[in-house]
Amino acid sequence: MHEFSLAMDIFNIVLETAKKEKVKKVYSIKLEVGKLMAVIPDSLLFSFETISRGTILEDTKLEIDEVPVKARCKNCKREFEVNELFFMCPYCKSTDLKIISGRDMFIKSLEVEKNGSDKLKT
Ligand SMILES: [Zn+2]
Repeated sequence: MHEFSLAMDIFNIVLETAKKEKVKKVYSIKLEVGKLMAVIPDSLLFSFETISRGTILEDTKLEIDEVPVKARCKNCKREFEVNELFFMCPYCKSTDLKIISGRDMFIKSLEVEKNGSDKLKT
């Protein structure tokens, strides 16, 4: 159940940012999640909901964008998308690959309300 600890991380980061920026309300969090992390979106949403209950992030919408896994072949230097089960260069069949995207998670943007009704995007 690693979604729970990921949700906890997101919660802590956003809450800290909200405090620092004196944010009144966070409408939504846009999240990019690499496919290699094998996150189950529903499970992440559920965990976040559980954690944020009773806090200023209670009604915050979590939007999850899945990022495809991309790799660069160290042999022929080409870049391509990899499916999760089969790590091989489609051009030269090398397995000496460097993963360049799709293996981590980050917060892309927050939609928040600051003093009054100003909406702003970060
Ligand atoms: Zn190659």
